[in-house]
Amino acid sequence: MTTQKCILDLTDSEIKERVTGMGEPAHRAQQLQRWIYQGYARSFTEMTDLPAAFRRKLSEDFSLHCLTPVKELTAKDGTVKTLFRLADESTIESALMPYSQNSKGERYTVCLSTQVGCPVGCSFCTTGQQEFERNLSAREIIDQVLYFAYRLKEQGHAITNIVFMGMGEPLLNYESLMQSLHTLTSPQRFALGVRHITISTAGVIPQIKLLSEEKLQVGLAISLHAANNTLRSKLVPINRKYPLEKLIPACREYYEKTGRRVSFEYTLLRKINDSPEQARELAVLLGGLNCHVNLIPANPGNDARFQASARNNVLMFQQELRRFHITCTVRQRMGLDIAAGCGQLRSRFVQSRAGFRDG
Ligand code: SF4
Repeated sequence: MTTQKCILDLTDSEIKERVTGMGEPAHRAQQLQRWIYQGYARSFTEMTDLPAAFRRKLSEDFSLHCLTPVKELTAKDGTVKTLFRLADESTIESALMPYSQNSKGERYTVCLSTQVGCPVGCSFCTTGQQEFERNLSAREIIDQVLYFAYRLKEQGHAITNIVFMGMGEPLLNYESLMQSLHTLTSPQRFALGVRHITISTAGVIPQIKLLSEEKLQVGLAISLHAANNTLRSKLVPINRKYPLEKLIPACREYYEKTGRRVSFEYTLLRKINDSPEQARELAVLLGGLNCHVNLIPANPGNDARFQASARNNVLMFQQELRRFHITCTVRQRMGLDIAAGCGQLRSRFVQSRAGFRDG
């Protein structure tokens, strides 16, 4: 394990302080930040407009990255799923999803993890069935972005969207989430428009309220998956603490304070939550709320209890919602051939460290 400090931990003023402390002029701090957050450098050596002695000193004092990619799978649709090892040997996974957009060109979305495992324990989610280990630091979150930004840059592309929808409940790691949002949107750093960022939550109401107070214009997606408390508490256990009658008003408040329409993620699970009656129940629950529903055909996992809904049921569910004037789309399924469901790659890695196989 490295004992060097990772430079991604430093704030703008700390970088400036360290740079001038090394006897360099203050503007070198901006140059350095540009190389890290806009040039996506993988080593100090490649920062060629910095003096060689300064680069050597930086390499002695700091590490530039804190994640090591240990396994990568690419799906037929171009989705890339990467398993990263952290300094303490824990592992997390992240994904890069290329979507084609006819009018606006290509869209490259990175899906980030915020925790090692997840304490929420949703019953149909592979990550939820893994042991929760710890929160990620802001640098571990940001380094996932920098890795994919570098990969895309090599191919002449750039990240256009970021979703906090990977392993973990982002709102239970609020401090690191806020720090990473700052880095992602700061003009001196990653400089991504905040409207291109979406945070997904199982419904941690106090933090939804906190987030609405930040008035950040960040997108909020609620992992809903059921429209009544009985079923939702089985699928998303945090519902027992934060039930629907409190969650929906918190979403309304988020919209009122930020002007951003809330999305509801609804994973369609065969014979569990995909009937026309359940679609109507959902329509009633969300009636009058300015929102969007993303219907997600489940990614096939290892648990036989949770199967993807049949195509017909998906379409019927969508039709029923539309009949009640609920805006909804069926999310494109990405990375089906590479275990792209949240936590699946890590689960396979952990289970078979000795003889990990692709496919
Ligand atoms: S769906 Fe999200 S919140 Fe639920 S267990 Fe999985 S990672 Fe955690």
